Amino acid sequence: MRLVMKFGGSSVADADRIRHCASLVKRFGADNQVVTTVSALGGVTDLLLELAAGAGSGNRVLTHTLLGEVRAKHEIAARELGCEEDIHALLDRLDTLVLGISAVGELTPRSRDAVLSFGERLSSRLMAAALSGQAMTGAEAGIVTDDHFGEADPLMELTLYQVRERLEPLIKSPTPIVVTGFLGATQHGVTTTLGRGGSDYTATILGSALKADEVWIWSDVDGLMTADPRTVPEARLLDHITFAESIEMGQFGAKSMHPRALEPAVEHRIPVRMRSTFNPDCPGTLITDGKADEAIARCVLLLKKVALLNVSGASMTGRPGTAARLFQALADANVNILLISQNVSEAGISIVVARDQLERAEGAIQAKLLRVGAARRVDVNRDVAVVAVVGSGMTGTPGVAARIFTAVADHKVNVRAIAQGSSELSVCFVVSEADGPTAVRALHHEFGLGQ
Ligand code: ASP
Ligand code: MG
Repeated sequence: MRLVMKFGGSSVADADRIRHCASLVKRFGADNQVVTTVSALGGVTDLLLELAAGAGSGNRVLTHTLLGEVRAKHEIAARELGCEEDIHALLDRLDTLVLGISAVGELTPRSRDAVLSFGERLSSRLMAAALSGQAMTGAEAGIVTDDHFGEADPLMELTLYQVRERLEPLIKSPTPIVVTGFLGATQHGVTTTLGRGGSDYTATILGSALKADEVWIWSDVDGLMTADPRTVPEARLLDHITFAESIEMGQFGAKSMHPRALEPAVEHRIPVRMRSTFNPDCPGTLITDGKADEAIARCVLLLKKVALLNVSGASMTGRPGTAARLFQALADANVNILLISQNVSEAGISIVVARDQLERAEGAIQAKLLRVGAARRVDVNRDVAVVAVVGSGMTGTPGVAARIFTAVADHKVNVRAIAQGSSELSVCFVVSEADGPTAVRALHHEFGLGQ
């Protein structure tokens, strides 16, 4: 098989963990072709973000402390893995860069990306040392992006072509290759990052370019579960789900991949496997195209720290443009809408937003709708949670909603708003925060998702 393996930050936290990951690459590389990509060592991206901000605001003390911390972490690992020279040279470049930013006293998105890139530059060298392999940056591997620093978009056609041209000969050679996750470069060669968690994206891009049989995302969890085991003790590992289900789960902050990172895999039909470096004999969760299972529901998710807003008023009925006005007002206030529901009477629209965006949302609705008479009132519920039942088996299956709401009602849980997309991949509803776990457990049981 041809495999792309990505190791997340928690899997490459120190020299021991890196050695362990290298042993996995060797073990699975014995009979397969493997390209490896890595995240920064656990916690390093956050340190670098803080470092960049500190340098930009001219905070010398903080900058000095953070540089020391980054240095120490990597030097210890480098000493154990025998690649001190390489790592020193990179750390010296980071020092110079940070000094430059402090001297100017201004941090641009472009220089922030330059600082962040050191996390993966460093980790890839460490991993390459553990593997006696060759490290290369995303740019060297062929990943070209636009110049939207901080969350750059790959120029996909060109990227796939270049990666194939450059890595195809190398993957057949006996020297293992390690590509920095998270990084690309503009067409002018300026370093960019692909957004937080972007190493997964690197993995699926490499996998698509090289037509891999599977992309393996190694992290510290066995895979995706039928529910959060802290809420539902009998929650089970899902051995196989579809891309669509995974995307649906990702929206709920389950340990799923970011939908953006899954996109190349979906488009090129490259199966993705999520598995744990802490339990490498467990095959994990395989994510593929097509139907994975006959089950109606695959998992039950709970989204906490959200708030419900009900916007109502007789003037909303039969007047086109009210919804547009509401959503525009929220967009202008930079509020992200998580759930929307309106019934045919049109007398009210319910939306769910993250709780820390509630004040902004309410303010925007006051100013742009209530004050001009486009709606009459807005009612706010802070202590709510969203419960979602996900499963592609519910598409076209009658009676799923009935089962869900009966199970919930049997546990005396009151439902405050409901939403289901016409894709019928999930049913979401809003309950009080206190009722959330009860509802999740009831549904997990109702659909027989436990052991
Ligand atoms: N190191 C980057 C981050 O933490 C990218 C990644 O880990 O995927 O966001
Ligand atoms: Mg990370």
